[in-house]
Amino acid sequence: MLTGSCLCGQIRFRIDGEIGSISFCHCRSCRKAQGTAFVTNAPVARNSFTLTAGESLVAAYESSPGKLRCFCRNCGSPVYSWRREMPDVIRIRLGTLDSDPGARPVLHAWVSEKAPWFEITDELPRFEGGLPPEPRG
Ligand SMILES: [Zn+2]
Ligand SMILES: [Zn+2]
Repeated sequence: MLTGSCLCGQIRFRIDGEIGSISFCHCRSCRKAQGTAFVTNAPVARNSFTLTAGESLVAAYESSPGKLRCFCRNCGSPVYSWRREMPDVIRIRLGTLDSDPGARPVLHAWVSEKAPWFEITDELPRFEGGLPPEPRG
C-alpha cells in the first residue's frame, strides 16, 4: 500500500495495488500545471485509489476538453488527473507520495514541448509526443 498527501496535508489518499509506468511529461500543460520543468506521474486504477481525507478540498480544472487536473483548493498541490474518456484510470502526481513506490521512471514524453532551459541528462527513452496508451498528462 502507498500513501500520499497534498502540501497542506488536508487531502490524503491511499493506493492499494500497483502503480503503472512512471513517466516524465514535458508538455506545455504539465509545465504550467506544476510550475516546473515537467511532471512526474503514473497511472493507477481508480478502484485502487481511495481518498482518506479532504475529499471536499479536491478541485478540478479542465485543462483541455475532457482532461481534468485535480488539485487541493487550499494549498494548490496538483494531486492527480483523469480523462472522461478513461474514467477507470487516474494519473497520480508522484511528488505527493509519502512512500516509495519501488518503481522508477521509464521515459520522457512530449519532449517536443520541453522547456528550453531544461536539459535532459539521463538515458531514458524520449518521445516527441505522448504514447498511444498513455496520453499526455
Ligand atoms: Zn492541500
Ligand atoms: Zn503533460
